[in-house]
Amino acid sequence: MSQSIEPSARRTQPTVLKFGGTSVADADALQRLARLVRRAYQSTRTVVIVSALAGVTDALLTAVDAAATGTGDPKRPRPELDALIERHQAIATRLARPQGAAGLGIALARARAEIAELLNAIAREPERRPALRDEIAAYGERLSAALVTAVLGAADLPARYVDARRCLLTDAAHGRATPLFPQTEEHTRAELAPLLDGELIPVLGGYIGATPQGVTTTLGRGGSDYSAALVGAALGAREIQIWTDVNGVLTADPRVVADARTIPALSYAEAAELAYFGAKVLHPRTLQPATDHGIPVRICNSRAPGEPGTLVTAQGVGRVGTVTAIAHKSGITVLQITSTRMLGAYGFLRGLFEVFERHRTVVDVVTTSEVSVSLTVDDAASLPQIIAELRPLGLVAIESDRAIVCVVGEGLRTTPGIAARVFATISDINVSLISQGASRVNLTFVVDNARAREVVQRLHAALFALEPADLDTAAAAGERMP
Ligand code: ASP
Ligand code: MG
Repeated sequence: MSQSIEPSARRTQPTVLKFGGTSVADADALQRLARLVRRAYQSTRTVVIVSALAGVTDALLTAVDAAATGTGDPKRPRPELDALIERHQAIATRLARPQGAAGLGIALARARAEIAELLNAIAREPERRPALRDEIAAYGERLSAALVTAVLGAADLPARYVDARRCLLTDAAHGRATPLFPQTEEHTRAELAPLLDGELIPVLGGYIGATPQGVTTTLGRGGSDYSAALVGAALGAREIQIWTDVNGVLTADPRVVADARTIPALSYAEAAELAYFGAKVLHPRTLQPATDHGIPVRICNSRAPGEPGTLVTAQGVGRVGTVTAIAHKSGITVLQITSTRMLGAYGFLRGLFEVFERHRTVVDVVTTSEVSVSLTVDDAASLPQIIAELRPLGLVAIESDRAIVCVVGEGLRTTPGIAARVFATISDINVSLISQGASRVNLTFVVDNARAREVVQRLHAALFALEPADLDTAAAAGERMP
């Protein structure tokens, strides 16, 4: 049991364990969580960061939208949200001590009343909506952290609830706040160091923060990973563990490539490329604090903790001549702007990109020639207005139903031959907008949506051919040879 461990035997540099929504979704998940926290705490100081229970953030934000637009059934408001709040109680009744369950019951009743009050305010005060929306969204992580604290306590682990809003200080950009780094570091240390010195296990909700004035903010959807990285960086953690429901980062989307496999090790640069290109395992901003402080990030499966998962470090294991992963993103639109005014002129590109900025539309891949610019956008919501504003700059052509394919690997830095292999493998397929990012660990290009699956499958087969050692293992396991 945890108490039998001498304080001196536990490493002082903490490990941060972050559990996503499905890893806290029900009683079984929380039992697994308690086992994982116990295992970590046996050897190292431990900090726990949790997401809201799966579905809760969606339900809270749906309630906000309904209140803002005046839709929904007024007699039976928010049944889905009520059921999810009730689920916290049901889990506590099963797993927490009676006192812990009763304490949580009080917190839940208070939360229900406060959320109802805040939803009324949403309807009445449109100008306060962005702030109220964050205030309401934050209940998901606050309640999840309170529940997890009670469950860990019942498992004889010395857990302490910490209000993450006292640690993560941010600007006031509601819904996508940016952390104030020095303040966050200072407050996180001040709040957590005394608990860690006392051999306690702090439990914080991810995703949420507050302005220096104490107004609640959120870091953007999926932001709990980012919280874990910020806390890890502030504490100089030895490792940040992201516990999710898949076996780490895979060599390709397993829905497209049946034999996609877990990548044992990635470099920060590779992981950052993959995070942007739709590998939804890690929130894209997560890697910055870890990279800055050189903290390893491990991505593991809470349902299969025996699996090795993926370890992200500065070096990765990219070997010369090898590729690490193939990512892709479908449903992309390509815009081509052609204008002789570009020739030898400056200021043209600025004017062009300002159009996208005005419409808050992210541009992913860009290639240019002397007289044309091609770029891809994922979010086509503002496209009609964007095109109208681009017309004065030149001829605009639109290609919809495209896909981005991105071959990632540290090996690309040093091996020009990989590009030749990639394009030789798909030489019968039309490829456009070829670009090699400045990080030089990706080779990105655009193909027809309809052929994206085939492209990824063929590239995976060609670039991830099993090596002789793997073949021996596969043969020993009686698997079909490729
Ligand atoms: N609960 C938040 C969301 O669903 C944050 C997170 O899970 O990381 O986006
Ligand atoms: Mg997530």
